[in-house]
Amino acid sequence: MAQKPPLKVLLCSPRGFCAGVVRAIDSVERALQVYGPPVYVRHEIVHNRFVVESLRAKGAVFVEELSEIPDTDAPVIFSAHGVAKAVPDEAARRNMFVLDATCPLVTKVHREAEIHSRRGREIVLVGHAGHPEVAGTMGQLPAGAVTLVETVDDAARFAPKDPRKLAYVTQTTLSVDDTSQIVELLKRRFPEIVGPHKEDICYATTNRQDAVKRVAPQVDAMIVVGAPNSSNSQRLKEVAERAGCRRAVLIQGANEIDWAEFGAISSLGITAGASAPEVLVEDIIAAFAERYDVSVDTVSAAEEAVFFPLPRALRESQAAE
Ligand code: SF4
Repeated sequence: MAQKPPLKVLLCSPRGFCAGVVRAIDSVERALQVYGPPVYVRHEIVHNRFVVESLRAKGAVFVEELSEIPDTDAPVIFSAHGVAKAVPDEAARRNMFVLDATCPLVTKVHREAEIHSRRGREIVLVGHAGHPEVAGTMGQLPAGAVTLVETVDDAARFAPKDPRKLAYVTQTTLSVDDTSQIVELLKRRFPEIVGPHKEDICYATTNRQDAVKRVAPQVDAMIVVGAPNSSNSQRLKEVAERAGCRRAVLIQGANEIDWAEFGAISSLGITAGASAPEVLVEDIIAAFAERYDVSVDTVSAAEEAVFFPLPRALRESQAAE
């Protein structure tokens, strides 16, 4: 048998599941155990097909809107991305049993927006149109109270009603570098704008991007494991490209590896978005090991020990056991 060419794999650390994703997935698992199927979940609980399919197989029913759910006593879980105020309002009208798996770091941004609004401030949300987290944050306040700014150009064009009564919040899963450019421009244009002490970009997004910045300049190619609709995964691919990696791809699993792209490499970086399970990373390393003589090293940018407890009703069901 011909000798396999050597391949040095650098694994980014941290990568994969964050505390908010673990809590959201555990919420669905626990609800299925305690209440039995069906458990309704509004939107993909986290943006990962593998996770969604495995929960669906256990009895979770995924819907996009509450209107798709029949009148029921079964639990209805809100995804980690958070929801607009209108959603819990509708659930309350229909007497639904809601378990809110919104990440606490997203809820924190919702509360910030509410406080700014109560203090009479117009709000700029730095984020990406169409992402459910953005819909949820904008939907904390009446239409028109929050203006979405996606780019530096948007920030340059933004015309507030009163520049002295202005605040900003951000999506949690943005590029740290892009966001700081946008925020710096807003601060230059509107010196009285109020914002969080640190941006709202969460610890998990920041740490995963830092690890990619360390690995990307050292490797011939970089794989980001994640879904195309996962904001933090898309950002990891962009960060890898900007950090000097010529070939950075976002794939959902080993079956999506385009071997033509990875023909003549001797080093490969691998990371995973916050909603991608580790088994998908292991599968990818195994697929490379069939063609290459693989050695694996880990490059660490941060240690993480963040934990979020389950929603209260599920905690109480645990305590009662
Ligand atoms: S990426 Fe950050 S904000 Fe999103 S679920 Fe994970 S910890 Fe929460």
